Amino acid sequence: MPEEQLRHRAKKSLGQNFLKDPNICRKIVDAISPGENDFIIEIGPGQGALTEFLVETNARKLVALEMDNALAEHLATRWPMLDVIRTDALQFPWAELEDGPHKIIGNLPYNVGSKLIWDIVSTVPHLERAVFMVQHEVATRLTAKPGCKAFGGLTAWVNNFCETTYLFKVPPTVFRPQPKVDSAVVRFEPLPVEDRPANPKKLAELIKLLFQQRRKQISTILKKRWNDSIESWFEVEGVSPQIRPENLTPKQFSSLSERL
Ligand code: SAM
Repeated sequence: MPEEQLRHRAKKSLGQNFLKDPNICRKIVDAISPGENDFIIEIGPGQGALTEFLVETNARKLVALEMDNALAEHLATRWPMLDVIRTDALQFPWAELEDGPHKIIGNLPYNVGSKLIWDIVSTVPHLERAVFMVQHEVATRLTAKPGCKAFGGLTAWVNNFCETTYLFKVPPTVFRPQPKVDSAVVRFEPLPVEDRPANPKKLAELIKLLFQQRRKQISTILKKRWNDSIESWFEVEGVSPQIRPENLTPKQFSSLSERL
């Protein structure tokens, strides 16, 4: 597609920063380890920078979710074997996905990346692997270890469902138009079902509660809800209630949430 047309098309409101470096695109697609038996879903294919390499993999099924009507139309014409769904990925019924396992990939629109990842890791019934490009700062949060400044609610949530790996940094120069910040690619490998939270609703509630006041000690934040069960949880875990939320491990968030 000519450069002028690309420039004209990029919509800031839809986070449209298109990749223009085929080597980076191939590297991102390789990170999902595509195979012929795969059912792959791409979020925000845009002008097809990643799609081009996904199509080459001869995956069993390839679905693309794109919100921009003009781009969706262009993709469907270019690759008739691609199932293009014109939709807002945030409204997509992830929990109802069938015919899995699924691999999900995308250079995510930055304004909705965190929310999408929150939903996908916790609701897709049979996720095999996901690879997403997000802002570098979000990638750091997704892969932060307990005790780090970058450890937040998103870290605690996502790492209760998946193992996250920071793969590589991507500079603004490989996009058109160029974003203001660095990007990075993160891989998500689902944890075994028995290691995932038994009650995600309670976990989400605790995470939101604790990270709304992350500078405070946990005992202060939970003061109104304090009970014997919470007290004994800290004793058994050997953790001081005076620590701040970012010092708990993802698994500890999950087990503590059950005492609420
Ligand atoms: N994959 C392409 C690439 O790497 O060049 C485009 C990536 S661009 C960062 C994000 C894409 O997601 C755009 O094509 C945009 O139209 C689309 N998009 C934005 N918000 C969306 C949403 N809520 N649901 C689905 N697609 C969306």
